Amino acid sequence: MADTPPPLVVDTSFKPETGKPVEVLPKLVRVTAPNASPFTFTGTNSFILGGDRVAVLDPGPDDAVHRAALMAAIAGRAVEAIILTHTHKDHSAGAPALVRETRAPLWFAGPHRLSRPPHLLEINALAGGCDWGLRPDRTLFDGEAFTVGGVDLVAIATPGHCANHMAYGLAGTDRLLTGDHIMGWNSTLVSVPDGSMGDYLASLEKVLALPYEHYIPAHGGPIPDGPAYARSLLAHRKLRNKQVIDAVGKGATRVDHLLNRIYPQLKGTLRMAAGMTLKAHIEYLSEQNAIRARRTPFGLRLSPA
Ligand SMILES: [Zn+2]
Repeated sequence: MADTPPPLVVDTSFKPETGKPVEVLPKLVRVTAPNASPFTFTGTNSFILGGDRVAVLDPGPDDAVHRAALMAAIAGRAVEAIILTHTHKDHSAGAPALVRETRAPLWFAGPHRLSRPPHLLEINALAGGCDWGLRPDRTLFDGEAFTVGGVDLVAIATPGHCANHMAYGLAGTDRLLTGDHIMGWNSTLVSVPDGSMGDYLASLEKVLALPYEHYIPAHGGPIPDGPAYARSLLAHRKLRNKQVIDAVGKGATRVDHLLNRIYPQLKGTLRMAAGMTLKAHIEYLSEQNAIRARRTPFGLRLSPA
């Protein structure tokens, strides 16, 4: 049964109250943006942290209706900072207009960057979804503790989905704002060279070693037993690695051979996304010398190590 998919149990029961402020915890309010899609699930969750003064985490897409919902939830309170988990546009494109409207500074882990230098003529399939021009007023660093809106946060670098991804721990609690690194509705998209499978696996291990029990993602609902879910994500990715090695061992030489074998049920954009994630697995495995992958003008050509 080597090709049986892992028992990754996702939770797609989340019912967003799009545009409405929902208190997740004291001093943590979620406002879900109206950008539901196959990639964003029920839309991006923006968060408002704080009490008398606040911070906004992930303003979401550049959407006037969502911005008005955020401003209504802020309700005239001073905004001390606008913070990003990462610079994919479904999280960050709304930042400049919200900065103008609130005059708050923008904090995140540095401009959008690739996870490794691009190969000659390589295309970043996610390029159009990245906010290349956005610059932070303050650059956040891994392990940095800070207080904003009266809430103590710890920035935790979690590259993999993309290079500048940060999760934020609510200091002194067991809650972690996981952004797109860990989401309960689906495993995250990892597409090279924007993201990196090696970084993603290392970031899963990193978060598992921290004392957080409940994860609050940027798409979908809270994950009550975060570590158990993160461990199942790791197992899922490790099984995928094994499936790729096995398929290449049995003669698969191209990405579409792997897609047919590993994701036979997927069609359209989801098949495309699975192809991106498989390329990330291939890159990781060839770095580990578990398979060989040769770049040709016609795409990757695979062979056993
Ligand atoms: Zn996202």
